[in-house]
Amino acid sequence: MNIHEYQAKELLAKFGVPVPAGFAALSVEEAVAATEKLPGPLYVVKAQIHAGGRGKGKFKELGPDAKGGVRLAKTAEEVRAAATDMLGNTLVTIQTGDAGKQVNRLYVTDGVDIAKEFYLALLVNRATGRVSMVASTEGGMDIETVAHDTPEKIHSIDIDAATGFMPHHGRAVAAALELTGDLAKQAANVASKLYDAFLGTDAEQIEINPLAVTEDGKLMVLDAKVGFDGNAMFRHKDLMELRDTTEEDAMELEASKYDLAYIKLDGDIGCMVNGAGLAMATMDIIKLNGMFPANFLDVGGGANKEKVTAAFKIILADPAVKGILVNIFGGIMKCDIIAEGIVAAAKEVNLSVPLVVRLEGTNVQAGKDILANSGLAIVPANDLGDAAKKIVAEVQKAA
Ligand code: GDP
Ligand code: MG
Repeated sequence: MNIHEYQAKELLAKFGVPVPAGFAALSVEEAVAATEKLPGPLYVVKAQIHAGGRGKGKFKELGPDAKGGVRLAKTAEEVRAAATDMLGNTLVTIQTGDAGKQVNRLYVTDGVDIAKEFYLALLVNRATGRVSMVASTEGGMDIETVAHDTPEKIHSIDIDAATGFMPHHGRAVAAALELTGDLAKQAANVASKLYDAFLGTDAEQIEINPLAVTEDGKLMVLDAKVGFDGNAMFRHKDLMELRDTTEEDAMELEASKYDLAYIKLDGDIGCMVNGAGLAMATMDIIKLNGMFPANFLDVGGGANKEKVTAAFKIILADPAVKGILVNIFGGIMKCDIIAEGIVAAAKEVNLSVPLVVRLEGTNVQAGKDILANSGLAIVPANDLGDAAKKIVAEVQKAA
């Protein structure tokens, strides 16, 4: 689960991380009012969307010469102009895709004079099973570019959970940022507080870009991207309240209501599978047969009629879907129950595209009989390879 920059900064501030003062705003008037509560003389007006690269982004409605989603302003009137430009318009950045994201919320912060920008991120290093701090002197720019062009400028510092954050980790971060003296101390302190925040919130990722040195020698977090481990959210009711569902894919959100793991993809074949591994294999074999999956969808172990119907509706809501491949292994769930669910769901949604079903497992013959006697044009398949070949053939035939 991801949150907005303003929420991330408010959260990090509670852990003692230095951030500039700021106020979220849902309207132009609120943005202007924020300037009265800030010291000035510089303000930053920042579009709040769940995507980075806002500064270099472009607003669809404003044309190529307009400024992006992070703007410096010197007066309340300049804040007003920036807020008017941004609110309600669609910001396209390297992370949003071509569709962009509508800006419904702004963050007006105290503007700082930047002497130098760094990069500092915390994530779980799966290879070592430890929290890793990734530090670079090349802040403010796209870290993927730095990793590609100058990988030697990226340093990873792993922290053993058994010792926790130690003073030497702080010194290593400071050294990676080439800081000495008081700034080195500040860097060690910021790193330690970020580590506390990472553990304390069950974060999956904390990315600070830039971590800035101000002209008056202070280290400050100017941008923060924070994501939490979805599986740990049950322990963080307070953090759940930070969820902004308008930032999430409508279909993925609908799927989550039914406890379906759904991810929209770019292909034509809708997939409904139980088990993530089987779902991955199904996607692979569709590709092997020359077409692409329209989604990843794991209905889970206890798929019932309600879930299967919801899954069908979600798959069919995607206009790109030209055919559906159902691949279910009846282990805990029996194949005949699943078949009944598929038939009922297919009738309810008025299925308009070819449907290939591969069932295997307990009561498989009873399941196949139900499909065959349903009166629906369901194409049965015997195994995964057969199923993929058949759905590709059916879709090509229908085209
Ligand atoms: P992003 O483009 O989505 O990553 O948004 P950021 O919050 O990182 O802002 C982009 C850039 O705007 C930063 O790299 C800074 O160079 C600049 N910026 C952000 N806040 C300030 C500020 O307070 N003062 C100044 N001078 N520049 C800022
Ligand atoms: Mg940034």
